[in-house]
Amino acid sequence: MLSEHSPITFADPIPSAVDVVIIGAGVIGVSTAWFLAQQGVSVVIFEKGRVAGEQSSRNWGWIRKHGRDRAELPIVIESIEHWKSIAEELDEDIGFAQHGVAYLAETEAELAERERWISIARDYDLDTRMLGASELAQIITEDSSKWVGASFTPSDARAEPFVAVPAIARSLRKKGVAITENCAVRTVETAAGQVDGVVTEHGVVRCSSVVCAGGAWSSLFCRNLGYDFPQLTVRATVARTTEAPDIFKGNAASTGLAFRRRDDGGYTLAASGNFEHFIGRDSFRHLPAFFPSIVRSHKDMSLRFGDGLVARLRETRSWSGGDISPFETTRVLNPDPSPVALSEIRNQIKRQLPSLADIPLEQAWAGMIDATPDIVPVMDRVEGLPGLFVATGFSGHGFGIGPGAGRLMADMVLGKTLGHDLKRFRLSRFSDGSSLELGPAL
Ligand SMILES: Cc1cc2nc3c(=O)[nH]c(=O)nc-3n(C[C@H](O)[C@H](O)[C@H](O)COP(=O)(O)OP(=O)(O)OC[C@H]3O[C@@H](n4cnc5c(N)ncnc54)[C@H](O)[C@@H]3O)c2cc1C
Repeated sequence: MLSEHSPITFADPIPSAVDVVIIGAGVIGVSTAWFLAQQGVSVVIFEKGRVAGEQSSRNWGWIRKHGRDRAELPIVIESIEHWKSIAEELDEDIGFAQHGVAYLAETEAELAERERWISIARDYDLDTRMLGASELAQIITEDSSKWVGASFTPSDARAEPFVAVPAIARSLRKKGVAITENCAVRTVETAAGQVDGVVTEHGVVRCSSVVCAGGAWSSLFCRNLGYDFPQLTVRATVARTTEAPDIFKGNAASTGLAFRRRDDGGYTLAASGNFEHFIGRDSFRHLPAFFPSIVRSHKDMSLRFGDGLVARLRETRSWSGGDISPFETTRVLNPDPSPVALSEIRNQIKRQLPSLADIPLEQAWAGMIDATPDIVPVMDRVEGLPGLFVATGFSGHGFGIGPGAGRLMADMVLGKTLGHDLKRFRLSRFSDGSSLELGPAL
């Protein structure tokens, strides 16, 4: 996994002025740049650590419509079309393939739960269908007698995240987009009440628009500018096997285990519902906003107090362009994987995928998911500061929707018609007295 010690591979000279500055080279930042560059807009991406160093290389690689919030569905449907054309246009293989997503059921009650998705799928013309045990056994060639059936969306997809996002970034450079790693944006400069530039740790860049696609850091960045919104991080642990028998080419989740066939012949695995939140100052500040989602997810979420608690309580909360910002002191969020989650992955493999039980886990890692209180993202302009845009809080499902979100953010910056209703993703929902409607799980 990438860390602050990984070599710097994107070190373009910093321009003195561009049309748009993008903060963060995750899937959202690079996708936004992709669609801006396509329209002839000059763009620079600043990344405090490494391209895709945080969530965008650490995720499971699922590109799914299945199980999404209704408001996200039109965007992810569009996004899959973008994934297809991006994969075709790139010179590198990013492992994009449509082998489907299956949500497995071990009991009739679970199967009935899975079936609830079908009516939503129909509303959006998705190809989701229910599979009985014998049909399921034809696509998952594991001893699947423990599964009574599944809901299955064959057109859902996957890509290798640690390959895909850097490959898009490399292609962007050929289109004239400058990308600079190890360069934090500290703050935004304004003139006549609107965005006029950014202050990076290596100097000022003039621009009329800034897109904050900073993942887990976005709320901290915006609060320093006077725009506060609730966002917390959640640690999720992942592991991969060495090459293993081909039991299923797609992505599947059951109660307890999620697995995806990788391009290298192994599996990416996680113990589903095994999330941890490390208590810090923001946990207390945002507790009221997050309370409903904490109550709903109490079985899947553990609260942790140790591991740098004092530092988290004392974090720097405000700075100016001349100060070293928190983005420079943590270049890459690279949390240790949880031993509890790893042990659960091993137990669940033995229980559910016996044909993989003897395959070693070659590597384990963790990522910090950036969650909002209602588990759906923010994609909006910041009222009060014309020229500042925010795309963040993708709450554990931003990889698949990334190119769709990038197209929307690019057109939002350019003042074009968006083609989708983004009301559910407005920033003001956290402050205008709206009651928040929880989206599906992380
Ligand atoms: C374990 C795990 C599994 C997941 N599985 C899936 C999945 O299967 N499918 C799916 O759709 N989603 C999945 N997700 C979620 C998905 O990875 C994220 O929603 C998505 O990657 C978010 O992209 P992003 O660009 O918003 O943020 P990130 O990828 O976190 O990128 C933000 C970048 O901004 C940089 N940055 C922040 N502040 C500054 C600053 N001031 N200056 C310069 N740079 C800055 C950071 O260093 C970081 O690199 C998963 C996430 C995790 C952690």
